[in-house]
Amino acid sequence: MSETAKLLQQLIRLDTTNPPGKETAAAELLRDYLEAAGVECALYARVPERANLVARLRGRGDGPSLALLSHTDVVLADPAEWERDPFGGELVDGEIWGRGALDMKGEVAASAVALASLAREGWRGSGDVIFVAAADEEVGAGYGLQWLVEEHPDAVRADFSVNEGSGERVVLGGRAFYLCSTAEKMSSPFVLRVRGRSGHASMPGIGDNALVKAAPLLARLGQFGVEPQLIPEVAGFLDAVLGSAPPATEALDAARAVSPLAAELIEPLLGMTVCPTMAQASDKRNVIPASCEITVDVRILPGQTPEQAEAALRAWLGDGDYELENVERQGGTRSPIGGPLWDAVASFVEQEEPGAAAAPMCVAGFTDSHWLREAFGTVAYGFFPSRALDSEVAARLIHSANERVPVDDLEFGLRFLRHAAKTVCA
Ligand SMILES: [Zn+2]
Repeated sequence: MSETAKLLQQLIRLDTTNPPGKETAAAELLRDYLEAAGVECALYARVPERANLVARLRGRGDGPSLALLSHTDVVLADPAEWERDPFGGELVDGEIWGRGALDMKGEVAASAVALASLAREGWRGSGDVIFVAAADEEVGAGYGLQWLVEEHPDAVRADFSVNEGSGERVVLGGRAFYLCSTAEKMSSPFVLRVRGRSGHASMPGIGDNALVKAAPLLARLGQFGVEPQLIPEVAGFLDAVLGSAPPATEALDAARAVSPLAAELIEPLLGMTVCPTMAQASDKRNVIPASCEITVDVRILPGQTPEQAEAALRAWLGDGDYELENVERQGGTRSPIGGPLWDAVASFVEQEEPGAAAAPMCVAGFTDSHWLREAFGTVAYGFFPSRALDSEVAARLIHSANERVPVDDLEFGLRFLRHAAKTVCA
């Protein structure tokens, strides 16, 4: 069996469900594996049971550094929903089953094998190739990359980085594209608060019902729309798929003409999105609510600010008796499309599948990449290519039951990571 598949099986069998994480076991497994290949390793831990591993293949010191970035924690798995043991790491029909197979112990294993195999071959780059297996990405409570960047910046500083986030193969208009995430939207949720006056619900007229007052605002939020705009990632995507980027107002129709999937991919990227998801009013059935809070999931484009989002929301809702509060800002960073890492992605795709092309993408969620972009200006992409597993099937398995990865995709990803190291740090 392939070295990557074997290492993945071992990683899956270590339960690193976060919370509580307990990633140290995974960090130690990877350290032992890498040290056996002669790779320099160090564990960094804010608390003993939540270690991060940083391994380094030293370069000659006259070129850029590349970080292979990953996380070792996983989300909860309920064995009752699974057809196989989520922590069994079984190989079934060419696929390794288990929590983390896709998100993202598969890439962890491939990154470790990329470093170990390069070290065994005696390969040496111009700059360092660094492997970061961070704890605590899924919860982000301050034990993982954020903490490393703040407390041990020299250990994780890099010019370029490859992380999770994309790499899926999609067929659009008869041609295959591999998506490479070069940017991430910002999560910028708001709370809409409406105030009224409580009273006994048996006499509706004596109070001022905040829930009822919130209803028209909620309905209005459900209709939210903005003038479309073309961010560089969507322009680059359309350029790859259509040969040129149409004006923003025609982008959606032009994408749909090629394929419904192309339209689906760019639709949430043409502007900020707004989706009310939670509501809270009275705690008691017989008490008229004096306040009502609607939580609104808002995703804004990289480059936009929560302040701009608030202005857009207020303009959409109009004047009224409500409060609007931004409660979080996460992600929303981008790296330029182009340069040595982009060239490595593009040349790998052309080599592996003649006729196919790489296409940039901005993803709706965010990954640990933003810590590196913000701290060091790292050019960070989400790219772990896959083609054996259908991208729509993969999307349904991540954070869900029966997560599994084809061994062929692990090997495919491994080839890319080795190619990236050899070209970026040539
Ligand atoms: Zn992940």
